Amino acid sequence: MNKWLILAVEDDLPVLNLITTTLKSQGYRYLTAENGEAAIMETASHNPDIVLLDLGLPDLDGVEVIRRIRSWSNVPIIVISARSEDSDKIDALDAGADDYLTKPFSVEELLARLRVTQRRLALMQGSEARDAVYQNGELRIDYASGCAYFKNEELHLTPIEYKLLCLLAKNTGKVLTHKYITQSVWGSSWENDVASLRVFMATLRKKLEKGQDAPRYIQTHIGVGYRMLRVE
Ligand code: CA
Repeated sequence: MNKWLILAVEDDLPVLNLITTTLKSQGYRYLTAENGEAAIMETASHNPDIVLLDLGLPDLDGVEVIRRIRSWSNVPIIVISARSEDSDKIDALDAGADDYLTKPFSVEELLARLRVTQRRLALMQGSEARDAVYQNGELRIDYASGCAYFKNEELHLTPIEYKLLCLLAKNTGKVLTHKYITQSVWGSSWENDVASLRVFMATLRKKLEKGQDAPRYIQTHIGVGYRMLRVE
């Protein structure tokens, strides 16, 4: 029996049905809400482990729902958006959502996103107590000495590359938007400078993923941002 409690927020009943049927089949416990006010109330009263949030709700803007929940809770939020809501999806991630699913999505995608979020939570809980050292597959970051290693060899990173790597590592499993990253690394003045971020990310990847055809550590979300993957 899976003990995780999921709050599914969706006003489109066939989609809500698909979500709850999927959750039930995997043994998740769940609650449902069909509008933004109900979503906020259910989150406050039942403290779910993960919130699945449709962005197009009848009463409140989904991004507003995230802002309100974020004012008191760090519960992981996975947004569900239609393709026409792509810019809302980015606003949602900027407002503190953790991940996203684009409609129409498959049951497998939904379950994969939930697993990524569960692993991220487990990792956070485990690492808060420990940690000066980050280990992910063959990547190791020693925060105290400010050095990063790959296959036990030190990576020669520039200060910005190191900062980017730490930011992604500290948010392993979470999609970080271009805006979030540029604000964290350079401050708000670089808000729109996605081009330079792309250049730094390319050099960082070249050092980290040399010889790999497909990126194993840093995943690109085209038009959205980047995510550090958990490598087994
Ligand atoms: Ca909707």
